[in-house]
Amino acid sequence: MFRVTQPRSFATLRMTNKVLQMILVQKYGGSSVANIKKVKNVARRVVAAKRKGNQVVVVVSAPGDTTDELIDLAGKISKLPNRREMDMLLSTGEQMSVALLAMAIHELGEDAVSMTGYQVGIITDEVHGAAKIEDIDARRMKAELAKGKIVIVAGFQGKTANHEITTLGRGGSDLTAVALASVLKAKVCEIYTDVDGVYNADPRIVSNARKLPVISYDEMMEMASLGAKVMQSRSVEVGKKYDVPILVRNSMNNAEGTLITKENKKMEKVLVSGITLNEDEAKVTILKVPDKPGIAAKVFSKIAEGNINIDMIIQNKSTTNYTDISFTVFRSDLKRALPVIRKAAEAVKARGIQVDDNIAKVSLVGVGMKSHSGVAGKMFSALAEKGINIEMISTSEIKISCVVDGRRGKEAVRAIHKKFELGKKK
Ligand code: ASP
Ligand code: MG
Repeated sequence: MFRVTQPRSFATLRMTNKVLQMILVQKYGGSSVANIKKVKNVARRVVAAKRKGNQVVVVVSAPGDTTDELIDLAGKISKLPNRREMDMLLSTGEQMSVALLAMAIHELGEDAVSMTGYQVGIITDEVHGAAKIEDIDARRMKAELAKGKIVIVAGFQGKTANHEITTLGRGGSDLTAVALASVLKAKVCEIYTDVDGVYNADPRIVSNARKLPVISYDEMMEMASLGAKVMQSRSVEVGKKYDVPILVRNSMNNAEGTLITKENKKMEKVLVSGITLNEDEAKVTILKVPDKPGIAAKVFSKIAEGNINIDMIIQNKSTTNYTDISFTVFRSDLKRALPVIRKAAEAVKARGIQVDDNIAKVSLVGVGMKSHSGVAGKMFSALAEKGINIEMISTSEIKISCVVDGRRGKEAVRAIHKKFELGKKK
């Protein structure tokens, strides 16, 4: 390593010292480290951030589709692989990335050390495959930073108090990054991905979708869970809880990105922040259920016992003595869910069940909705004008979701986006 040291005045020295105390956490997703060329690109960016006077902690995901490939491998051996061994397997993807990135940084003349979640001391509960972080030991990271090193941490993994390796659920590297930023009191947590930031609709669906300069935690959480695949929703929740500013940026350019932060008055002036599409759910209707107290309780506790997550639920008071109950489940759960739902239907003497696995959920998100009326009506008109039928509706303080025919989901997104004039101004 070769560096030129220049004499500095006291003033700049003092300034540098101050800047040096700033910790920056950067996270690079799988697509940003998918091959060696990209790993080298990340190394250059990390080194640049360090040379600007930051103490840098980098979190990386497994390269490209590695995690999916590992899951496939396990699937070739067992239909239901042991969850502990699954974590042992999946955690290797991230371990590959951290080592390669450390080497690439060394080649650029900076000191870096890679660490697994285990080595850092990211302590989780014992739920393999979906572990929750309970505690993070910041000591080793801080010691390495103090030695002038760049610290590279494997995302998505931790260990239990009993020294078992765990993983945090898909997309969990975001969570690692936000949690580290929180314990290290970083000035910002930068999430690097393959898009320029958070858009007000998926640019692959709406060609003139606009990138948002800023969005609130709550809106981002809704958008993440409603199908905008930019960030893992739990990580945004943690960011909100611990007040970590999160900046989503593109690892391949210098675009400004989207800042996820606390809600402010200015945001409320914006009526709609985003439109999302979720095509991963299916609708189930339990037909002709006796309309009397306790029935819904019975149905849904049976379904919950089967560990099946329900999203939207609709039931109306009937004029006869019977009613239908409709709800949505993840399509990936459907196979597993159907026998359980059938049993629940039998238990309440319903006539039967009906399944529609070709639905789409279109949602509109915006904190501005809290202080403005007429948003729902306008959304429904956009759909009506296209002759798109609404099958289910659900709302929260900052969100309206409609279930429509699966074949018309994308069209619905475009129609709503246009109605609210959310496109780029040309
Ligand atoms: N590699 C893990 C996954 O693909 C974690 C992550 O990418 O954040 O889910
Ligand atoms: Mg990944």
